Amino acid sequence: MFDIMEATRLESLHLAQDPATGLKAIIAIHSSRLGPALGGCRYLPYADDDAALRDVARLAQGMSYKAALAGLRQGGGKAVIVRAPHVDNRGALFEAFGRFIDSLGGAYVTAVDSGTSSTDMDCIAQHTRHVTSTTSGGDPSPHTAMGVFAGIRASAQARLGSDDLEGLRIAVQGLGHVGYALAEQLAAAGAELLVSDLDTGKVQLAVEQLGAQPIANEALLTTPCDILAPCGLGGVLTSQIVAQLRCAAVAGAANNQLAHPDVADELEARGILYAPDYVINSGGLIFVSLQHQGEDLPAITAHLAQIGNRLTEVYAHAQAEHRSPARVADLIAERILYG
Ligand code: NAD
Repeated sequence: MFDIMEATRLESLHLAQDPATGLKAIIAIHSSRLGPALGGCRYLPYADDDAALRDVARLAQGMSYKAALAGLRQGGGKAVIVRAPHVDNRGALFEAFGRFIDSLGGAYVTAVDSGTSSTDMDCIAQHTRHVTSTTSGGDPSPHTAMGVFAGIRASAQARLGSDDLEGLRIAVQGLGHVGYALAEQLAAAGAELLVSDLDTGKVQLAVEQLGAQPIANEALLTTPCDILAPCGLGGVLTSQIVAQLRCAAVAGAANNQLAHPDVADELEARGILYAPDYVINSGGLIFVSLQHQGEDLPAITAHLAQIGNRLTEVYAHAQAEHRSPARVADLIAERILYG
């Protein structure tokens, strides 16, 4: 356990179990240097306790980096609730988790993540105020899309010399909560949209409402375009795909786009600009963090617009230091977190 904490530089780990509800949960606080640790709660089955521990530690570290780059007064944390094959009362389980969060006195603030919903957050909220993304909080996805849009403009400026998206060919993979809202903004900005989704209904909607051109799922990533925006699943940028890309920049919402860290260098070697995923997709985190701190929508929108400037800063360092933007983003985060 301590080797995992040391490897990820975790500040503290908190465990709870409650036989009455079946709760088995881990909260990892990676850093509270910038403020209380904020991060989602996963509710998933794990092969064993070690797998759950590794997942929560790695994710908590990622949240610290993301919050630091987003300029938030917020640290990084994450929680996992180990999912049993059967649970008698899901509401009671999440209420027990709410009591666990409250026992930490605000050191950790939770949010929706894989396997959890706003309704689960409502159950948690019955026992603690250190919770975001409840049903009354609103969907963060449109804010994530707004940030990705700002990031695409910054990427166009850095690689193509102008942030005007009029006439640019932009390929969006995945038209879900974030991807569709992004496609709407890109269409409004005059971009030529190429889209794909496993759900043909969503593609049809984009064709009819946004004038998008449908592309087969397996062809979208390697279709010729100016900017590729992966907004579906993570891990899409494998070495094999990077070798076949025909775009000037990759700038999209999906988490963990790089199949492995070396892919950042392979993109660099091919002259393809890469917007580090946790920088460009931080709009949702900015929304839940600032909303939790009581900020109003204009303040949140102004903060979201800064995502473009932050990416511009990352790109400038990357060019000057001959490093990949992904590496530069990590270095900036580490400087903010560790001085
Ligand atoms: P979503 O589930 O609403 O949408 C994902 C869409 O991608 C779905 O329509 C799905 O059919 C499609 N898709 C999946 N695999 C595909 C493939 N191989 N080819 C084409 N389409 C495919 O998810 P979302 O909330 O829009 O999030 C999208 C991505 O952005 C995820 O990686 C998520 O982790 C990341 N992200 C989301 C937010 C947010 O606020 N929702 C914030 C940060 C990061």
